[in-house]
Amino acid sequence: MHTRTTTDIQIAASAIRDGRLVAFPTETVYGLGARVGDSEAIKNIFIAKGRPPDNPLIVHVAEPSWIAGVTSSVSAMAADLVDAFFPAPLTLVLPKHPDISDNVSAGLKTIGVRMPDHELALAFLKACGEPVAAPSANQSGRPSPTTWEAVVDDLGGRIDLVLKGESPRFGLESTVLDCTGDHPVILRPGSVTLEDLRLVVPTTRFAREGLDSTAGSPGTRHPHYRGRAKLRIVDVATRRISTNRLAYIGLDPPTVPDAYALVHVADTVDRYARKLFSFIRQCEKEDMEELHCQRVGESGIGRALMDRLSRASVAD
Ligand code: AMP
Ligand code: MG
Repeated sequence: MHTRTTTDIQIAASAIRDGRLVAFPTETVYGLGARVGDSEAIKNIFIAKGRPPDNPLIVHVAEPSWIAGVTSSVSAMAADLVDAFFPAPLTLVLPKHPDISDNVSAGLKTIGVRMPDHELALAFLKACGEPVAAPSANQSGRPSPTTWEAVVDDLGGRIDLVLKGESPRFGLESTVLDCTGDHPVILRPGSVTLEDLRLVVPTTRFAREGLDSTAGSPGTRHPHYRGRAKLRIVDVATRRISTNRLAYIGLDPPTVPDAYALVHVADTVDRYARKLFSFIRQCEKEDMEELHCQRVGESGIGRALMDRLSRASVAD
């Protein structure tokens, strides 16, 4: 299969309606979309990505009114969150509508729904005319793609089309929030932070490892974000020189700049987060053996960044 690229949402929407797989940009990362009602196309997403069958897909909607078509109920609490945040890098886990195939939710009775805050993504979803299920458009286990070129590197020859557009502003996947209980529980941290959510529902909390039945949103159990360079989290003072193909990314310049063949210093945690996945891929292209990532404080978006870093890092 030859993977085409386009900037035309009508071409992309008509490919989706024909049952094809289309990658599209959002404000978080590129997604790999199929019609939510097309169970054959949904199966093909898992095949194209090599995605474990127990890892559910997020359903993308063009407007809040579409949520009713994929869920069986929306609590008052969930409705408040929709009103306050959508469109946003926030996925709400809600009770699944019985008509939506179990393939989308990987067998779960719940479904993740989000409305992306990205003009082209919303126009594309509107043109599709129905919800689109889309996980990140990378090969399973690899860093999520933040450019259309990264999508082609991972999935070229396995998907039909890439809709090219403005690059993601956030660069980390959405916050996943379980709204099926009495209080919202963050299953995966993202750019919509605990602090943001508590302004709307003050009892929001993080999932407690091993305590919440939902703890560890399915996808968080699988290996993630692995590039070919070994990733280590470092405090800037730490220095471990084991190779001359060494890269660094962080907020502070490295104390021993000569030790690194490739360096990216970000001036804010947000910019660090936005750059991370593309930097991991750049390290690969430039044959880096090891990548040192500076630790950041675990508040706000720093929590999401540290979550991705720790899942991508090698154990000592
Ligand atoms: P991706 O779009 O590749 O980041 O993958 C979607 C992720 O959203 C999954 O790996 C899960 O962690 C999460 N997710 C989607 N649907 C659900 C659900 N029904 N319950 C819990 N987590 C979900
Ligand atoms: Mg993913």
